[in-house]
Amino acid sequence: MKHFDVVIVGGAIVGSSTAYFLRKNGFKGSIAVIEKDPTYAKACTPLSWGGVRKQFSTPENIRLSTFGFNIISDVKKEFGPEADISFRETGYLVLGSEASIPVLEENAKLQRSMGAFTELYSPAELARKFPHGNFEGIAMASFAPKGEGWFDPYGLMNLVRKGAAAKGATYIADEVVAIEAGDKVSSVTLKSGEKLGAGAVVNAAGTAGGAVAAMVGFNLPVSAAKRFTYIVDCPAAPDALRKGPAWFNTDGTYWRPEGRNFMFGFTPSEDEEPKVADWEMEHHWFEEKIWPSAFERVPVFESLKVISGYVGHYDYNWFDQNGVIGRHPAIENFYFGNGFSGHGIQQGLATGNAISELIMHGEYRTMDLKALGVERIAANKPLFEKNIF
Ligand SMILES: Cc1cc2nc3c(=O)[nH]c(=O)nc-3n(C[C@H](O)[C@H](O)[C@H](O)COP(=O)(O)OP(=O)(O)OC[C@H]3O[C@@H](n4cnc5c(N)ncnc54)[C@H](O)[C@@H]3O)c2cc1C
Repeated sequence: MKHFDVVIVGGAIVGSSTAYFLRKNGFKGSIAVIEKDPTYAKACTPLSWGGVRKQFSTPENIRLSTFGFNIISDVKKEFGPEADISFRETGYLVLGSEASIPVLEENAKLQRSMGAFTELYSPAELARKFPHGNFEGIAMASFAPKGEGWFDPYGLMNLVRKGAAAKGATYIADEVVAIEAGDKVSSVTLKSGEKLGAGAVVNAAGTAGGAVAAMVGFNLPVSAAKRFTYIVDCPAAPDALRKGPAWFNTDGTYWRPEGRNFMFGFTPSEDEEPKVADWEMEHHWFEEKIWPSAFERVPVFESLKVISGYVGHYDYNWFDQNGVIGRHPAIENFYFGNGFSGHGIQQGLATGNAISELIMHGEYRTMDLKALGVERIAANKPLFEKNIF
């Protein structure tokens, strides 16, 4: 039986980042990354909107995303002169009602204390800065002119993946179907029938995070949540809107420019949450929910055309919508990097680095992420993030 010192289940952003940072941080052992679909067609990573922001409500999320931002905004420094992920530092505009004022103020204070450039705007300031918007019903908004934006997620994954392979990680196209463990994990079984000895196993399986945790008897509430993206042409949209930030409206709808078009989506309420995480596109949400809200907020959106759309699955943590990062409480060589619920592309790099430190040193060195450990699930102590888009 072949043996690897570290076996990583899933080879997208979290799995590849773990392999990359293990090597970058000086790990000398052997690393296997098992990826069941090397086209990544249904993985979260390539279907992501590629947003990175510091407008979060927990220090852990701000730390994770700041680490990601520092690499994403300067990929040439990390990956060489040819690296390019079309990063645009365009910002997130988060709109709030009267009731959200204390939350926006508290978040902005925390974000600024951690180096973010968050500014708070009154309706009058908003109207001046974003003249194509209608801010009726808005009491306050937060926006950072620097330190946030979006990029090509597939491009980032490929840079990390190639970087990990170049540093000697072995990518194996196969599926992990079982994990053999007592007090420790000893091996994994692949769909092809092959068994690999494993010194440590990392669960980086995205929407299958819960299924892979179940292979070692752990109940991790992470699975797929269905989300819709609508691609829209709006010929009348002014340049300022095309070059402007991503907008997050008070009712959970959001949009941002994408090339010559716009992307629209929404965070469903509990009642609206799709019951089945299949790949069937549902067009009615755009007509019924997104469009009326969007053209009320940005009147030029009254005249637009949906030209395409797609379904993507969030790697959703049904417990508290935050990443689960750390070591299994009883199986000391099993690690989690799961459940990012809409913010995992920007946090995958830092997660990979953090898991590499746990494997190499048994503790975090770069940033403290203990609050994101699985222990909070058994203890029923959720760590809620107030800004989930
Ligand atoms: C529509 C959409 C928009 C998003 N927008 C953003 C955004 O703007 N900003 C942001 O930060 N995040 C965003 N996200 C979330 C982000 O994309 C994910 O959190 C992140 O990509 C998760 O990365 P991952 O590597 O953990 O999982 P994935 O990318 O899903 O990769 C997991 C991999 O594991 C493989 N796998 C699973 N099980 C097995 C097994 N048993 N054996 C072998 N391989 C296995 C899968 O094939 C897959 O390739 C968005 C997601 C979606 C769907």
